[in-house]
Amino acid sequence: MSFKDILGQNAPIRILQAYISEGRLAGGYLFTGPRGIGKKLVALTLAKALNCLEGAIDSCDQCASCRKVDSATHPDVQVIETLENETEIKIEYIRQLKSRICLRPYEGKKKVFIINDAHKLNPESSNALLKVLEEPPKDSLIILVTDKPALLFKTIISRCKTVRFMPQRRQELEKALNEDFGFDRPESHYLSFFYEGRLADALKMKGKDVLKEKNRLIDNFVLKRSGGFSYSSAPDRDTLREDLNILAGYFRDIYLLKIGMPHAELINLDRRSELLRVMAVYSFSQLNEILSLISSSLDFLEHNVNAKLLMHNLSLAIGQRQI
Ligand SMILES: [Zn+2]
Repeated sequence: MSFKDILGQNAPIRILQAYISEGRLAGGYLFTGPRGIGKKLVALTLAKALNCLEGAIDSCDQCASCRKVDSATHPDVQVIETLENETEIKIEYIRQLKSRICLRPYEGKKKVFIINDAHKLNPESSNALLKVLEEPPKDSLIILVTDKPALLFKTIISRCKTVRFMPQRRQELEKALNEDFGFDRPESHYLSFFYEGRLADALKMKGKDVLKEKNRLIDNFVLKRSGGFSYSSAPDRDTLREDLNILAGYFRDIYLLKIGMPHAELINLDRRSELLRVMAVYSFSQLNEILSLISSSLDFLEHNVNAKLLMHNLSLAIGQRQI
């Protein structure tokens, strides 16, 4: 994928392309913005464009260099990130970067090091990186990618140029999902709301029966009143977070319908007639209570609670708040 194919990130891409064409590219960049909106993709595309044998400010995606970056085999482009069983970016990774960055590029024009989830740098790694960022060699570029810049050393941030990424606008995402990625219209509508402009997350739902799955949860959780909701097996934390967000979306819809929001703004547009029917069941204060119960359940989730029990209790509490 080249810069011209990346959706919704025109602003940061234009800035970076201007730096390239004016020869003003700095040695260290910090790409910040919410998760899943294309920061790492833009970083890799920048690495590709800088080393492309054909293009000047974009990658051609055809030449040997571009193909190597795409297959993660380019010797001058390195992504540094934690492996599955690691929680922090260890000093060894930064030591390797330090020894590599002083050498000339093996075959490309620029050595590019992308540190993904840079907030996972531990203090030792951060200190080591800081020294490199003081004066990176001219033929090298370090890109830190993170959605949690507040966890980085201030001194690291001050040595990088920050490029901010914003979520794609919802309507643009809906259109792209439908026209470019083959989702049907109801799915595109739902995913564009649910993932708030995070294309990468929405694309992970390809081939899954998204609407059916979320409707099954809503049906089981909200409409089945006796005895409370329970999972057949304990869900993992990500599933639970997703499920709580589905429920939050459902009650948010009811709330906004009550205040007269246009129907096109419903997340669960596919359940419009039911939502219009049940909005009379809940008062504003009940909806406020329910939404804050869901929100505190999302908080509890971060503290190793019993997931099955959490959802069961939540469903009982919500059941009690129905008229
Ligand atoms: Zn190329």
